[in-house]
Amino acid sequence: MIPYGRQCVDEDDVAAVAEVLRGDWLTAGPAVRSFEDAVAERVDARFAVAFSSGTAGLHGAAAAAGLGPGDLVATPSLTFVASANCARYVGADVVFVDVEESTMNLDPALVPDTADALVAVHFAGLPLDLSRLERRPRVVIEDAAHALGAVGPLGPIGNCAASDMCVFSFHPVKPVTSAEGGIVTTNSPELAERLRRFRNHGMHGAGESVEEPWAYRIDETAMNYRLSDLHAALGRSQLSKLDRFTRRREQVARRYDEALAGAAVRTPPRAPGGQVHSRHLYPVRVLDRRRVYEELRAAGIGVQVHYVPVHHQPLYADVLSAPLPVTEAVYDGLLSLPLHPTLTDADQDRVVRALSATTAGSPQVESERRR
Ligand SMILES: *Cc1c(COP(=O)(O)O)cnc(C)c1O
Repeated sequence: MIPYGRQCVDEDDVAAVAEVLRGDWLTAGPAVRSFEDAVAERVDARFAVAFSSGTAGLHGAAAAAGLGPGDLVATPSLTFVASANCARYVGADVVFVDVEESTMNLDPALVPDTADALVAVHFAGLPLDLSRLERRPRVVIEDAAHALGAVGPLGPIGNCAASDMCVFSFHPVKPVTSAEGGIVTTNSPELAERLRRFRNHGMHGAGESVEEPWAYRIDETAMNYRLSDLHAALGRSQLSKLDRFTRRREQVARRYDEALAGAAVRTPPRAPGGQVHSRHLYPVRVLDRRRVYEELRAAGIGVQVHYVPVHHQPLYADVLSAPLPVTEAVYDGLLSLPLHPTLTDADQDRVVRALSATTAGSPQVESERRR
């Protein structure tokens, strides 16, 4: 099966991890700090705080922002469930926002005025322009799990130019991997401190007490969300390849654009000039998705659907949102084609041939507006 996404790990990544195993620190040591510093520098943020996963980072961001019961958190429904779950982890409520058909990103004009916070996703790695928000909620968190390496109209995604915090994931299918891992960037020293506390049981103030020099202080129910040095060493090593990976992903995407130009397949948007799309996914839209999915899978092509809208999940059945007609229409035909730095031209040609054959004769997906 040609997978829709996969990691690209070389011998120098292996060596970086092995070196940590031979040293003194296995967790939360110098490799974590080096990974954090490298990500902060790369995305032009003042602080970066590593977590054990992107999901843990989203939880940390929601907690550090002070979100809790009574707060309303807006997020798209066309995303991975963690974008919404981070609100629920801290007891906040979720409201879903419809997407724009041309970008598959949330429509900034539809963020309700009642929202206390926004978890904004850069879907597939296409930068969402946060300066288009008509009213900025009290808290803005970017879910940039897809978007390390992307550059939007306000600079590198992660610089928090129009947000409080930005969360990256280093899961194996993401732009670079640490196996499991996440990083939250911010320009606020207070938020950075709260994030660091939250990932380490809420512990702080070690050695500050004269009477009890061994003591530390805890005043919140926090977590162990620390990243290990093994994971951080892999992530740091991978980060040095990000530009090469992003270029290769863009090349594969352009090759799909050209090869599918005549097919009954709607190809995903490109980034506007001067911006960079990180091309985490290549989500096309087809008619009769169920049949296309099954035929491609039977042909050994691991297409996937990103995502079943979160509001379709039983867990979110109780959420009251305005109707999400564009999310429904986009989801109807959505299919992610294989896209990763190690995909060969020959495998890509197989995908194109199989997709062209199964969709031959069917009409193009129409725009929602024209229905
Ligand atoms: C992958 C992903 C996450 C979660 O990241 P993990 O590191 O797997 O926990 C969150 N949001 C989105 C949009 C993702 O794609």
